Amino acid sequence: MRKSILVLGSGIGGLSAAIILAKLGFRVTVVEKNRMAGGLLRSYRRGGLDCEVGVHYLGSLDRGQILRRFFDYLGVTDSIPVKRMGKDGVIDRYLFDSPATHPHQFDMPEGLDAYADNLKAAFPEELRCIDGIMSPICKAADQLHSLELLNSSGADFSLLDQSLPFGEVLDTLGCSPGLRSVLAIPSSWLGVPLADCPAYYHNIALASYVSSSWRLQCSGAYMADALTARFEELGGQVLRGADVSEIQVKSRVVKGVQLQDGTTLAADIVVAALHPKAVLQMLPQGAVKPSYANRIKGLQDTHGIFTVHAAVDAAAHPEIPHNLFKVDTDSSGNVSDLRYYQIRRSRREGVNLLSILTSGHDELWQPWVHSTTGRRADAYYARKQKYSELILEEAEQIFGKLQGLELLDSSTPLTLRDWVNSPDGSAYGVLRSASQVLGTALLNRTAVQGLFLAGQNVMAPGVIGTILGSFATVKLIVGEDDFARSCRL
Ligand SMILES: Cc1cc2nc3c(=O)[nH]c(=O)nc-3n(C[C@H](O)[C@H](O)[C@H](O)COP(=O)(O)OP(=O)(O)OC[C@H]3O[C@@H](n4cnc5c(N)ncnc54)[C@H](O)[C@@H]3O)c2cc1C
Repeated sequence: MRKSILVLGSGIGGLSAAIILAKLGFRVTVVEKNRMAGGLLRSYRRGGLDCEVGVHYLGSLDRGQILRRFFDYLGVTDSIPVKRMGKDGVIDRYLFDSPATHPHQFDMPEGLDAYADNLKAAFPEELRCIDGIMSPICKAADQLHSLELLNSSGADFSLLDQSLPFGEVLDTLGCSPGLRSVLAIPSSWLGVPLADCPAYYHNIALASYVSSSWRLQCSGAYMADALTARFEELGGQVLRGADVSEIQVKSRVVKGVQLQDGTTLAADIVVAALHPKAVLQMLPQGAVKPSYANRIKGLQDTHGIFTVHAAVDAAAHPEIPHNLFKVDTDSSGNVSDLRYYQIRRSRREGVNLLSILTSGHDELWQPWVHSTTGRRADAYYARKQKYSELILEEAEQIFGKLQGLELLDSSTPLTLRDWVNSPDGSAYGVLRSASQVLGTALLNRTAVQGLFLAGQNVMAPGVIGTILGSFATVKLIVGEDDFARSCRL
């Protein structure tokens, strides 16, 4: 008999784990609370435009690079159309306006050599420091694309070297505030402040995008549907609108799950591709030891994100082929706030989509923390509108007067919390900080036999980090030897 597996959650973590397990011959069912699959992958449409939620660009999709190897294995390379960024020499443009930060603009190009050259051109007095920084970044890129992270015994970032906070590494190298502020951006992709970001995470995050960066040529919803279709083609089933309320456990062995509507689903194995705190709440009293429960409850999470999507006149605001980051720093070069801008072509004639992401400012939404999406007070919507207008006004400092401006939608950390069940609306889940290295290690194991975790929390956030986590969890389920034999990437 083939073992039956329930995968909870249909984000990239759940869907990738489900495809791998289905390919290995398990009977797999994905259980998703929302009416549509995809979690953070899933874009939504406003005013005829596709508004992205959690995929703005992807790293490492060139042949031989890590995400391409993952997509090839999952069998979705041809069904997810992408477009290479950086053809104009820029993937990310950082704009600084703090007096401590010189120069006021830095371009991240494609390729590690080009990146090192740009750093040296911008900071000609810090060549030794730059060489000291680049050497571990190059090593991280090799480890990433060779899949050493997955194939090495244990396969966990925290077991590897370079766990010193990157801020400390830069202090030791005597790096200037200006260089520090440029190097602070990759850790912000993980939601971790530079000062507390293990050097390893910084290097991997940077290497994954600098190696090659890509935009979806389809929408995130299309990508979610492509992954779902691939899973169904392998014989898997997705239950939508199936909100799991309890994970059933007997004598510390998993038995299945119960849904909000009372339905029970039995399984030999449950893979919860959800935040570990959400999983803990689904476990019956006494299912795990208090020490495990306390470790999970005590984990610090990343901050939330506020997002604005607006339609703008396409002739006045043509597509920008790279991303823009407006970065506020303190006098030491640490990032105090950040805005991410993207202008892209849309499916509506004469209209482009301006998307802006910024920190969530959780305190702004605190009064409505006990309300749920669609059932919030008018004052919440009024504040959201006002804050969106402020963010758009600020955008005019970069793009000039926004012509044909039409605010399509904005979302707060509470929106995200309710959409994917992320505690307090945390964007990137568990904080991968140097001070939590031990607490966040081996998060795919649980104290319940047959219950495993997957998703962005088990290894690292981002599409790459999340799929890497899915492979690591499957390796744990089938064992290292079987994994090496049957899971050929
Ligand atoms: C604003 C934002 C921008 C981002 N931009 C990028 C980017 O440009 N590139 C990149 O690589 N990464 C990006 N990321 C990170 C990336 O989107 C995430 O790391 C990744 O999508 C997480 O996938 P996941 O499967 O772990 O979680 P999720 O996508 O959150 O999936 C969890 C799923 O579980 C379901 N669920 C929850 N509770 C239950 C329940 N009780 N019963 C059943 N189902 C349940 C949820 O509905 C959801 O579908 C971004 C993230 C955010 C927030």
